[in-house]
Amino acid sequence: MDCIFCRIISGEIPSTAVYSDEKVFAFRDINPQAPVHVLVVPREHISSADEIDGENSNAVAAVFEAIPKIAAKEGLTNGYRVVNNCGEDGCQSVKHIHFHLLGGKKLSEKMD
Ligand code: 5GP
Ligand code: ZN
Repeated sequence: MDCIFCRIISGEIPSTAVYSDEKVFAFRDINPQAPVHVLVVPREHISSADEIDGENSNAVAAVFEAIPKIAAKEGLTNGYRVVNNCGEDGCQSVKHIHFHLLGGKKLSEKMD
């Protein structure tokens, strides 16, 4: 499959992994926007948040179960932000659903 994140998950493309379990893989963003910038992705290929349904939402739940563990591992004791970009207007550039875990500093109050 021609999906860069599927290729990262499989190990075909190298990444700096920070967390891995049966359903979830997390790795450092190549272009970090904060001192901690981790991409948390389900191993299952789901194109975007717009494709979440009753069949695949367990993969998304697994991502959100992993996030507090990753945050703790990364030392984000004072909070963090989780961002999902979806589709054209959301500026999603990689079409494999992913959640940006950002922290390690006081983040901007602006959301857009
Ligand atoms: P999006 O804009 O789709 O929400 O986020 C895609 C993210 O993936 C961007 O923050 C970008 O820096 C990151 N990214 C794109 N290609 C790679 C890659 O090959 N390796 C890693 N580690 N991150 C990538
Ligand atoms: Zn994929």
